[in-house]
Amino acid sequence: MSDPSPAHLRTRSDGGRAVEYPPAPEPLRVAVYDNHTHLEIADGALPLDVHEHLERAASVGIAGAVQVGTDVATSIWSAEVAAREPRLLAAVALHPNEAPELEASAGVSGTGLDDALAVIDELAARPRVRAIGETGLDFFRTGEDGRGAQFRSFEAHIDIAKRHGLALQIHDRDAHDEVVSTLRRVGAPERTVFHCFSGGEELARLAADEGWYLSFAGNVTFKNAENLREALRVAPSDRILVETDAPYLTPVPLRGRPNAPYLVPHTVRFMAEVLGADLDEFCEQLAANTVAVYGSWQDEPVIGPAEADAGA
Ligand SMILES: [Zn+2]
Ligand SMILES: [Zn+2]
Repeated sequence: MSDPSPAHLRTRSDGGRAVEYPPAPEPLRVAVYDNHTHLEIADGALPLDVHEHLERAASVGIAGAVQVGTDVATSIWSAEVAAREPRLLAAVALHPNEAPELEASAGVSGTGLDDALAVIDELAARPRVRAIGETGLDFFRTGEDGRGAQFRSFEAHIDIAKRHGLALQIHDRDAHDEVVSTLRRVGAPERTVFHCFSGGEELARLAADEGWYLSFAGNVTFKNAENLREALRVAPSDRILVETDAPYLTPVPLRGRPNAPYLVPHTVRFMAEVLGADLDEFCEQLAANTVAVYGSWQDEPVIGPAEADAGA
């Protein structure tokens, strides 16, 4: 995840043949936003540049996206592409699985992590950087020996978000209790989002009490994800968001194909159905929630014409 090169340089071939993007779904009538995506990662798909991603998204009622960094290189790239592209805002952070590696790379002094955090702090001041994320805890991919670095990094990101008045996007994998206790101990930022929410009804109720946001990804459509649907049903309507986490977590019925912001309508329709909600009203609520967290996509001018290939 440390390679910031444009998508066309990152295409991974599966057994010598790229996996194709699925066809576009029926457009939504009321536009929404994808609040968490990684447009620089192609993950086996045929390459789409940033402009093409956003054109496809717009054609099905996805007005914009939050482009999320996971290390220094992709955070810089995210901030730069959002500065040029009116349909993107940026989130910047060091992913929880990067933190132990950064700390180890600097030996016992830990300056690798500190230097990287200083870059994130600097990027946080840019006008179209609207969130610190994705940060958090991941006990699935990081073992006990890396957890000290994860906690230190998570707390530093919370501090950056609060000092800059930005939203926080949390990555929580197999670490619900520790994420919650950390937020309570140091104090959560005013707008705190559980990206790719992975808890059940209990965590959803707890988040509701705290005023935290739950962002649902394509996995809410998966057959075995009844816990996510239970969480969705108890979440307050003004605390629900939708995301792709593209190119991962492609919604049903397209599993196995690469994900992209233009596939959000599948997830949104599914969520509205679970809630028994009117689709247009649900979309209006999602869009309002997203702007409440990140601000408007229109309120800061971009610094120049958007380029077809934002990796340039
Ligand atoms: Zn994540
Ligand atoms: Zn992500």
